[in-house]
Amino acid sequence: MSLTLVNLDSFLTEVGDTPEALVITPNQRIQRRLVVSLVEKALANKSSYSPPNITALSQWIDQCWDTCVLRGVPGVGGKKLISGIQEDFLWQSIISSDPDYVSLVLPSSLSVAASEAYSRILLYRADLSQATVEKIEFEHFLSWRERFIEALQANNWVTREMAVDLIIDAIRDQAIALPAEVFLLEFDDVPPQYSDLFIAMTNAGCPVREVGEHKPVSLARRVPIAERSGQYEAAARWARAVIESDPDATIGIVCPELGTQRDQVLRAFNDVFEPSAILPNNARYTQPFNISTGIPLATLPIITAAIDILTAAGGRPMSTQDASAMLRNTFLNGSISEFDGRAVLDARITSQIGSEISLGGLARRARNLSVFSGLLDKLAAEAANAPRDQRPSQWAQHFHQCLTSVGWPGERSLDSVEYQAVGLWVAMLENLSTLDGVTGHCSRDVAVGLLRKIAGETPFQAETQDSPIQILGALEAAGLRFDYLWVADFNDDIFPPAPKPNALLSIAIQKSFGMPHCSADRELEYCLRLAERFVAGADHVVFSYGLQEDDRDLRHSRLIDEVPEVSLDDVVSSDSSTPEHSLLSAVGLVEYEECDMPVSHEELLGMRGGTGLIKSQAACPFQAFAKYRLGAREIEDPVLGLSHKDRGNLLHQALEFIWTSIKTHSALTALGQGGRHTLIADACEHAFAWLGAAREDVGPRLVALETQRMTKILIEWLDMELSRPAFEVMATESTVEVDIAGLPLKVGRDRIDRVCDTGQRLVMDYKTSRSLSIGSWSGPRLPEPQVPLYAAYDPEGVSGAAFGQLAAGRVRMLGVSDDGGMAEGIIAVEKAKSSKLMPDWQDQVSDWRDSLEALAADFLSGKADVDPVAYDTCDTCHLASLCRKR
Ligand code: SF4
Repeated sequence: MSLTLVNLDSFLTEVGDTPEALVITPNQRIQRRLVVSLVEKALANKSSYSPPNITALSQWIDQCWDTCVLRGVPGVGGKKLISGIQEDFLWQSIISSDPDYVSLVLPSSLSVAASEAYSRILLYRADLSQATVEKIEFEHFLSWRERFIEALQANNWVTREMAVDLIIDAIRDQAIALPAEVFLLEFDDVPPQYSDLFIAMTNAGCPVREVGEHKPVSLARRVPIAERSGQYEAAARWARAVIESDPDATIGIVCPELGTQRDQVLRAFNDVFEPSAILPNNARYTQPFNISTGIPLATLPIITAAIDILTAAGGRPMSTQDASAMLRNTFLNGSISEFDGRAVLDARITSQIGSEISLGGLARRARNLSVFSGLLDKLAAEAANAPRDQRPSQWAQHFHQCLTSVGWPGERSLDSVEYQAVGLWVAMLENLSTLDGVTGHCSRDVAVGLLRKIAGETPFQAETQDSPIQILGALEAAGLRFDYLWVADFNDDIFPPAPKPNALLSIAIQKSFGMPHCSADRELEYCLRLAERFVAGADHVVFSYGLQEDDRDLRHSRLIDEVPEVSLDDVVSSDSSTPEHSLLSAVGLVEYEECDMPVSHEELLGMRGGTGLIKSQAACPFQAFAKYRLGAREIEDPVLGLSHKDRGNLLHQALEFIWTSIKTHSALTALGQGGRHTLIADACEHAFAWLGAAREDVGPRLVALETQRMTKILIEWLDMELSRPAFEVMATESTVEVDIAGLPLKVGRDRIDRVCDTGQRLVMDYKTSRSLSIGSWSGPRLPEPQVPLYAAYDPEGVSGAAFGQLAAGRVRMLGVSDDGGMAEGIIAVEKAKSSKLMPDWQDQVSDWRDSLEALAADFLSGKADVDPVAYDTCDTCHLASLCRKR
């Protein structure tokens, strides 16, 4: 099936059976559609109609240019057409050498505007000789333009617009052959340069005529949609209803914001047409609709992988994220055969390594992964042997060899999309090669940066089968004809849009030469023509517009004031399948009976758990089930410098060193201030020696800064400890084994003290968090069960339990005891009424035991409900993808 495009009968009447004529279309989309429609019509009629030559304007200009070059037409000989990417980089290099400008704006953001301005001057025949320089940007542009022209002349380059002028000269000189007649189909906005081209052709004996009938529409309606974002789903449901009732219909969906809204549009159409697309085993790109805009090539994983490899081959230490991405890179040799080993190493380096790792460091850790370590060696050799500077074309060659040596694009067979992307990658390297004349010699980093930029600016559109439903931008749809057309976003802020003149050209010049987007009047005039095209674009046309976006009220464009308004229900019935309904009907449902799965004796024997298990069960039964029975582990995000956990561990190490060294309050008192500071300095040194054994990236500056921070906290902490009644530290970082209702746990306690006068024992848990509350020790689901667990299951029994809070600006003890005399901050439990604790210490301990036993029994019985204890519990849990909690 193909779209009929224009009224073919009328087209054939106008163009006739003239194979020697040429039909020129404004773009390739219309050209392709027209060719297919004519061939299908001829086949259907079994006619021997031979269609005229049909070409898009850009293709025809390329052909004319090639002819001029081949024939050595005067003025053309030896000149080369500069590519878009060459032109962009030429502008960038000119702009970046302007000291006034480069400090303010990125050259890459200005090169597009400069290139557009240069092109419009030629297209609109703008005479700059009389122009008044009314703004500084224009003044800068004029000097850049001079240098741009000099560079073009020096390299014998011409831009596309310059080539058109040379072609016009060649036509006037009768230096190239022209067709017998030219028909222009569906041209809207013909700039003066193209008018000159068509006049030159006419004068040279080749008449140029416009064709294309805009027949009036039979039914146009406008439909308000409550939320602007709801239009795409409405359009998708409408298209589905149309195609179900008329399978031969052609349907156009116009989304003026398609460039920025592509993902939302795609999601809405997938939800309605292919709800099962989200199921994991479904092939990609099976949509029954075509979407016209592509995505940047750089966003495809296979291309990202290639650029990551080339970046790593630069030999610089890479971030832990990049090393992790390299291990997960499925486009490297061995990604399937070493999948498990690479995943384990990935988990290890992201949780153990600091912010950066060298190629050599990664290779050392990957010793047991022969393929991976082998390719790291190759990358290291690349880094060592590559020249410092060379031309982009040489870098392109080098990059190709580098990727081949590491087996990119990998060992599995590529799917169709990846296959197409590899083809474009080769074209990208060719593009890089064309930059020799623009950048000259450059470093590897610059060459990789150029490649990344080219990939970011190369659109990728997977080739798919033709479809009756076409989703298009406004300009692409303007010349096409459908049976049904839905034009979305017909709001007054889009039709017409606010003017957007070129930022570098004088406004007066843009207005006087009628350049695009230069004024509100021009935008209105253009949108009027566009709206007329839409209205004539199908037998049934729906214009939709949103009434609200966020808190903003919206209204329809005044261009469709006269179009009758109907409700959404009038164009698509509300009982059309919702995405959820479609999804449910797309898959066979299996019913599972919910039942608890108790922990077996064998499972219990192999289980390793500490207070974390009870904490998880208290936080959310499913979390405990997933972590301790399914073995779901979080892969921590690497952080720059020290993580919160690192800082906590350092303080634990330092305090263990201190109390193992001095053991008692009296020894602390005897040290005096100088002695305490020396002890703290030694403790910090010990802690960093411990951390440095596992971390390569902890350098002296970081150690000095962190030591300063830790010292401040530890001084405050020891000052606070001095004020306590005399005590003895019985144990630091000690472990006991406990059995809670049949659940064996290994419990590590930070510290146990004994008050010298009373013999009372105190269990303490160091915390570096700023927000702590003993209120988290009450209730049947103890949100913070560690300290209650230490207290309730201490083999010798304790009389008090406390947090030792070691946060910057908040250093204190916080807890409860039987009589409150252990330290400031540890109050008698009877006075902790607001915390909902019991007034008697022994009662409280036994209450904790009951709660802990209930949690352990729930875990053992297999209770695994998705039931977070507080509204923010899920914020710190990594299992949302498993439990499906939104
Ligand atoms: S994300 Fe929330 S609901 Fe899901 S397991 Fe974690 S805590 Fe439970």
